[in-house]
This record gives sequence, structure tokens and C-alpha cells, in this order.
Amino acid sequence: MPYTVTKLTDYSEAALDSAVRGLFSALDSEATTVSSDTDWKAFRDRWMARKNGVLTQVNDLWLKPAPKDAKREVGQRVNEIKKRVEETVDQTAERSKSDSSVLDSERLDISLPGIHRPIGAEHPVIKTMNEIVSVFRNLGYSVSEGPEIETDYYNFESLNFPPNHPARDTQDTLFIANQESKPLRERLLLRTHTSPVQIRTMEKLKPPIRIVIPGKVYRNDPPDASHSPMFHQIEGLAVDYNIKFGDLKGTLDHFIKALLGSSVKTRFKPSFFPFTEPSAEMMVSCFICGGSGWRGNDPCRPCKQSGWIEILGCGMVDPNVFEFVKDNGYDPKKVSGFAFGMGADRLAILKYGVDDIQLFFQGDVRFLEQFS
Ligand SMILES: [Zn+2]
Repeated sequence: MPYTVTKLTDYSEAALDSAVRGLFSALDSEATTVSSDTDWKAFRDRWMARKNGVLTQVNDLWLKPAPKDAKREVGQRVNEIKKRVEETVDQTAERSKSDSSVLDSERLDISLPGIHRPIGAEHPVIKTMNEIVSVFRNLGYSVSEGPEIETDYYNFESLNFPPNHPARDTQDTLFIANQESKPLRERLLLRTHTSPVQIRTMEKLKPPIRIVIPGKVYRNDPPDASHSPMFHQIEGLAVDYNIKFGDLKGTLDHFIKALLGSSVKTRFKPSFFPFTEPSAEMMVSCFICGGSGWRGNDPCRPCKQSGWIEILGCGMVDPNVFEFVKDNGYDPKKVSGFAFGMGADRLAILKYGVDDIQLFFQGDVRFLEQFS
């Protein structure tokens, strides 16, 4: 029969002694049967649960109905019981934890081979971006970043792509759905280039500025060997009071030599971007065939046998772009600057001789570990 608390009819000292003794002996003998964590919880609840634990019953059945002149004496006994029960429950907890069943469940087989955690490495695209950033850091540029979900205003309008301008069609844009109720310039899209960060930075910092902007960009290009709906750009912007096209050429020539080696040559050919005027493409002498167009007896594919590779777009910042940030000190009559942008994935492809951009994003460790 498990121990139960019964009502007291006799509150004499002798009767109280015997009741308390009975309770303690039940407590001790129940404590010896605890051999696991589950046992211990049941033991604790049986004695200490607020609702119907033994302590509560002692309170209800012994202390509360005690006659006035015995209250003090019974109160002291109840305190003693409480203390003793708490101590016993604590000690039993320690004992049940050091029990052999716990040791069994935590046993270690030290003869098993260890867990091998391979060390990671920079992804080839990130590595290329970091190399580019570090060349510009050494020239005193700082790094700027911006959101990948952009408004039409920052992605197009403020970069001199007015609504309905045909240049917008050259960037197959992924728009966020259900934006039709908003004014055009507030509608959200996935940025198609890192250029919005130019405007965002010029809104925050007064000239002069020199920044590079690495980041992910998105276009509605179906994936194939040379296209991916997500790719990486690095963009740069320098604005000061007397910047000329010669500064652009000198900076970019230095940059590409620092990245690919001092033997490469550069040349510029006219191009068009809405946010630069004049605009140019920088070509670099093919660093794969050395500019000859041939690799042994095979035609050089990366330069299509021309000996030159288009590496980036650039130009002098269009004064119309400065109009959007004129209030922050970018008066197009006073400041001038140049901007440039390149695809980091494409540079990594050329640098490492990879023939499919998809390989970069498939997460195949066998491919990626070649670059570690
Ligand atoms: Zn070549």
C-alpha cells in the first residue's frame, strides 16, 4: 500500500511524533526505488506537486484543521517535513543522474572514426570579386552595397532610363507581382544591375566619392552555358571636381593589369549606356592566347580569334544622372566623374577557363573543390 496522508484525530505530541515518523519512513523507502529520470519526476510530483502532492495534503489535512492551541506545534512539524522532503528529492535527483542507465546511454565508443569536417573555401566567383575589390581598395575606393529588391526609380529612372525608354528593353527585368496600383517609380523589381547603388550612395555622401559596388543582380535570362537569371556584377564610381576621361582610362588600365598581369594591353571602343556619356567598352588583349588568336593549332575560343576580349563597360557619368542628386552637392556644372561595371562571373569564367556558367551555381563539390 503506498503511503497516504490521513486526517489526525489526536494532536498530542506523541501522536504527532508517530505521524511524522510514518511519513519519513514512507519518504525514505520510496526514494530508494528511484532509478531513472522518469522515476525521479514521478517521485518529485508525488511529494511536491502543488495540486495533490503529499506536502499539500499534509497542509490541508494536518495543519488547516488543527485546533488553535496545537497550530504552532503542527506548523513547526510541517516546516520540518517540507525541508526534509525537498532535501530528499534533491539528493535523489543527483543519484538518478549518476545511475548506470544514464552511463549506458552516454557510452562513447572511442574506437570509432572521428567526424571529418572538411574546411570550406572561397567560391570562385566570390574569390574573383574579392580580388577586384582589393585592387580598388588599394586605390582608395570604399565598398558600397544596396538592396537586391529595388524600386523602378533607383533601377531605371534616376539612371537616365525614362519610362518607355527603349534602353529598358535591353535588361529583361523580373518584376515583383501585384504592383500595378503603385506609381511606376515606386514599383518593385529585382535589380538588373548594381548601378542603383550609385544613386543611393550619392544621396548619402557628398562629393568627392570613390566606391566599388559588388553584388548579385537578376535578369529574365533562361539558364544556358553563358547566361544565368542570377549573376554578379562589380561596379565602380568616382566623382570629384575635375575628373576627365583620361582618369577613367588610367584607372581601368591599372586595374586590369593588377588583376590579370602587367603584360595585358587595353583599348577602348565607343559604346552606349543611358547613364554615361560618352560611353565605352574596355577590351583587354586576350590573356589566354596572348593576343595571337591561336592556342597551338587551335583557334582561341574565348576571344573568337580576335586577340581581344570585352571586359567591362564604362563612361563619364551623364550630367542627367547628377541632376537627380543635385541637392546633395552634385551640381553637374561643377562635378564630373566616371563609372564602370563588369560581370564577375564572366571574369571568373575567363580566368579559370570554365566553359559553363551553370557550374558555378549548381553547388557540386567536385567542381568547386578544384578552386580551394
Ligand atoms: Zn584569345
